[in-house]
Amino acid sequence: MNKKENSQKVQSVYHELSLQTYHREEHNISRKQISENALKVLYRLNGAGYDAYLVGGGVRDLLLGEQPKDFDIATNATPEQIKKLFRNCRLIGRRFRLAHIMFGRDIIEVATFRGHHQEQEKNVSQQSKEGMLLRDNVYGSIDEDAERRDFSINAMYYNIADYSIHDYAGGIEDLEDRLIRLIGEPEVRYREDPVRMLRAIRFAAKLDFDIEEDTAAPIEDLAPLLRDIPSARLYEESLKLLQSGYGLETYHLLREYNLFQQLFPIIAPHFTEEYSSRTEQALDLVLDATDERIEEGKRVNPAFMFAAMLWYPMMEYANRLISKGMSEYDAVMEASNSILDEQVKSTAIPRRHTATIREIWQLQLRLPRRSGKRAYRLMELNKFRAGLDFLEMRGEIEGGEVAALAKWWSTFQLAGRNMRQAMVNDLGGSSARPSSRRKRAPKKPKSAE
Ligand code: ATP
Ligand code: MG
Repeated sequence: MNKKENSQKVQSVYHELSLQTYHREEHNISRKQISENALKVLYRLNGAGYDAYLVGGGVRDLLLGEQPKDFDIATNATPEQIKKLFRNCRLIGRRFRLAHIMFGRDIIEVATFRGHHQEQEKNVSQQSKEGMLLRDNVYGSIDEDAERRDFSINAMYYNIADYSIHDYAGGIEDLEDRLIRLIGEPEVRYREDPVRMLRAIRFAAKLDFDIEEDTAAPIEDLAPLLRDIPSARLYEESLKLLQSGYGLETYHLLREYNLFQQLFPIIAPHFTEEYSSRTEQALDLVLDATDERIEEGKRVNPAFMFAAMLWYPMMEYANRLISKGMSEYDAVMEASNSILDEQVKSTAIPRRHTATIREIWQLQLRLPRRSGKRAYRLMELNKFRAGLDFLEMRGEIEGGEVAALAKWWSTFQLAGRNMRQAMVNDLGGSSARPSSRRKRAPKKPKSAE
């Protein structure tokens, strides 16, 4: 796309924004690429006399020739005015009040243009002493809305009234140069909302863009600001980072910028210069497998991923308890509790997932015990498949007995009735451990790393 001559300076308190307008014939977005529901919402708003734009990832991804994940809409109608137009509308959000227009399972998010938080309406916008925005409900013009957005490539607006694109921060140029560039003064913008650091990494990995120099420079030092972000928000963000198909690349980038360490402070001490600890191997394997599943359109389970990421830190702790004389079972229970309690302080993994993580971990203690009817009973457990996949991953990392055990189980699973019985009989007395109720003498701990 050619750089436009008739660019227009936008009055701005903060940043030098200059609006460039690309008319319908100057860009490649066609209405056919926009979901029917998003179009309905855009036309209804516009028909009622409001401005209505497709904005954010929708415009960005369409310009890149990709299928957007969702279509976000921005308008000058207030949430109440939006609600009056749509029967299927719900108002949500405290930090940002938004309208959700529901079409069955498809939800179109409509946001009212946001204004400057530093203006006089102090009851609707609040800032903490670190410069972080706590509430942000001041409505404004489209120009103001544009400078409140994070990156240039996320501040392009597709106008349903004339199918033009309003590009406020040189987003189209940055798309061509494949650059993630923050709008405004990077340090100020990161302090307002430290999650923008994570978003920079997420888009860089997902789009395979570089992070522009000034945008990248402050991240490493400001990374600890993430500690002030509510753990529930960081959890949501960590899923977008690690479970959107580019998890492996995203983790490596996050780590380079000192961000992963903030999200997972328990894992950070297991990082080595050579990326060779068992924890690091587990991260590489599980994130690679997750990316592959997403690529194949399969479902991914956050519990499995977190279980893999935290297993060796948990086991290192458990082994310390075992060396003090605690039984293996009790040690793993206690270490699981401590590690998960600690982890949810930074990234609030929900309870339904921590329950599954514990089940997967406990199965690792049970899978070696296969004698009599045990193997058959284990196979009937809900989480057996996950437990076995987990054991296989450990086998790849640890080799030896663990790998042999994983192999035994995968053969057993595929075997017919007679073969299975023979396999159980073959276990004899040694690997089919006697009753687990018997207290065993404390074992010398194996090093987790
Ligand atoms: P995707 O949906 O593909 O992950 P997106 O760019 O649409 O990417 P969303 O989280 O859906 O990201 O946000 C929609 C838009 O809202 C963004 O494009 C950006 O303009 C704006 N936005 C979102 N989060 C922030 C933030 N923390 N600070 C400033 N602007 C933001
Ligand atoms: Mg989006």
